[in-house]
Amino acid sequence: MEPRVPGLSSGSTVFISAGASGIGLTMAKRFLAQGCLVHVCDINEQGVADFIASHPNASGDVVDVSDYQRVKTMFEGIAAQFGHLDVLINNAGIAGPTAAVEDMDPNEWDKTIAIDLNSIFYVTKEATPLMKARGGAMINIASNAALFGFPLRGPYTAAKWAILGLTKTWAMELGVNKIRVNAICPGSVNGPRIEGVIERDAAGRGMTTDEIRTVYQRQSSMRLFVEADDIANTALFLASDMGKSISGQTIAVDGHTEGLSNFLEP
Ligand code: NAD
Repeated sequence: MEPRVPGLSSGSTVFISAGASGIGLTMAKRFLAQGCLVHVCDINEQGVADFIASHPNASGDVVDVSDYQRVKTMFEGIAAQFGHLDVLINNAGIAGPTAAVEDMDPNEWDKTIAIDLNSIFYVTKEATPLMKARGGAMINIASNAALFGFPLRGPYTAAKWAILGLTKTWAMELGVNKIRVNAICPGSVNGPRIEGVIERDAAGRGMTTDEIRTVYQRQSSMRLFVEADDIANTALFLASDMGKSISGQTIAVDGHTEGLSNFLEP
């Protein structure tokens, strides 16, 4: 039985992008367990269908968040369904390529920026009118890559740093409407995504997966990979009245990352 989060009203309406798997799905399930109505979108059709079937308060759309027209149409449906949105979680983001600047494929750059950055704008633009009347909480999922330089991961790092700038900017624009805007910077999260990133990084850097995993874990003072539930706990806190005076902030949930540049050390 999930303990109640104080000050998170049962019946709160929540939207989570890329909510069919990974951190997004974990957050979606935790908000459902609090009695919230949770709408997700994802490009994974089966994942969205499974999520909708999992709970009476679960709903969703198959939408690529980098397609503005699809996002706009989806929020017209959410407006009809919910009327008001209490919590927006911008979670969608791909790892993007591992390559040095001179080897970076511009198409891969554009794709990563479209999914990791442009989508945040599209979703927030359409969600904001649904939040203004009653206020609410926006939570942008960035990364510990937003806090450091991250060699060979240019577009991912650029998008995640930009998200912190937008978090502060939108906190200023929307504070008067009692909309709080914060960012969470996860460290490496246990799960299939980090294993895929490790495999690609190993190939891109000419290292073994064990070497890459050790490097990643040593980046954190606590020498750990975090759990998706650690991110969900922070999102629940920020969405609830426990976080009611917090806005414009970035919270790293990463066991304290000390840096991301040690791949290049001799
Ligand atoms: P994941 O790869 O496990 O899941 C991502 C989900 O996004 C999948 O369901 C996928 O179908 C969906 N998706 C991909 N492209 C999409 C698009 N264009 N439109 C809609 N949905 C799309 O990812 P995750 O690990 O759960 O990561 C979630 C967020 O957390 C991302 O923003 C990521 O950058 C961030 N993050 C993750 C880690 C980590 O170690 N996993 C670390 C730091 C930050």
